[in-house]
Amino acid sequence: MRVAGAVCLVTGASAGIGAATAARLARSGARVLLAGRDAVRLGALADRIGGIPIVADLGRDGAAGLLAEQALARTGRVDVLVNNAGVGWAGDFAAMPPVDIAQLVAVNLTAPLTLTRLLLPAMRERGRGHAVMVSSIAGCVGVAREAAYAATKAGLNGFCDSLRDELAGTGVGVSVVVPGVVDTEFFARRGVPYQRTRPRPIPPERVAAAVVAAVERDRAWVYAPSWMRLPARVHGAFPGVFRWFAARATGE
Ligand code: NAP
Repeated sequence: MRVAGAVCLVTGASAGIGAATAARLARSGARVLLAGRDAVRLGALADRIGGIPIVADLGRDGAAGLLAEQALARTGRVDVLVNNAGVGWAGDFAAMPPVDIAQLVAVNLTAPLTLTRLLLPAMRERGRGHAVMVSSIAGCVGVAREAAYAATKAGLNGFCDSLRDELAGTGVGVSVVVPGVVDTEFFARRGVPYQRTRPRPIPPERVAAAVVAAVERDRAWVYAPSWMRLPARVHGAFPGVFRWFAARATGE
């Protein structure tokens, strides 16, 4: 569907990929609802691009429901939902505090499913709408020391594939956008910097372009950068071969 004239709700819009996506959507003529926790940043972005800020902590019980309610109260409808908000965690899974596991699952998986569930019926009634999940290459191939994070993103992937089939012919599309490594605050926030030299981080604007392309072309899977589809496909078809190359590439 065209994003021009659409009402788009972007979670995690206060920074990184979400902020870039909201800006791109606004430039393309969409009306944008900007969700996040940081009211100051959301306000500044709203002033710059003309969106409507909504403060919501998606790690809290009931927050997705409140966000959906507030979004509908402000605009009356949501045509495009971009489930982008996410948090990382890197380290030895055996040492991961259970409270951090709960937070990752709540923000990265439960909130996107809940928001989609709440906004989907009206999209179906109108026969028009789109939901995008910002996943990760980690959810496609697995990454050592990011097991819980990879699990939440693999969960999103399975959700999208299933829901897309379920909604075939309804006019409502579902897409997974799979970023590789992106130059945002994600790594600083999780407390473990990105230390590899390859792949090189891409700017968040490239992922934003992938999100808009996914909606406008109704694409099931979009990778950013596009060559990221290669490791995902090799892993899917030949997991043993993938592991062999990955071990050599990373020296693990
Ligand atoms: P980022 O710059 O750290 O931005 C994360 C966004 O998520 C922020 O707007 C943050 O909002 C929001 N967020 C975090 N916790 C939240 C919570 N409890 N409630 C509501 N919002 C919350 O990271 P990013 O790189 O743009 O990440 C965006 C998405 O891309 C994530 O889903 C991430 O998993 C995925 N991704 C990133 C990379 C990468 O290399 N950067 C790679 C693959 C996938 P506040 O600051 O306002 O809380």
